[in-house]
Amino acid sequence: MNIFNSLFSEKCPKCNQVLLTDKSNALLSHVVKSCPNGHYVKEFHPAIETYIEHNGGNH
Ligand SMILES: [Zn+2]
Repeated sequence: MNIFNSLFSEKCPKCNQVLLTDKSNALLSHVVKSCPNGHYVKEFHPAIETYIEHNGGNH
């Protein structure tokens, strides 16, 4: 189980900045991590144990 390790060590694949965690969605039981430069967003949904990734520059 290294899901939680990865939650705290993710980096943007484009600029290698550590992703920022948006905790405003805590009530929805998911975590959103995003590049401070807007390149990349990753959501983790514990209820379904699934990551959803968005590449901001590839819309
Ligand atoms: Zn980035």
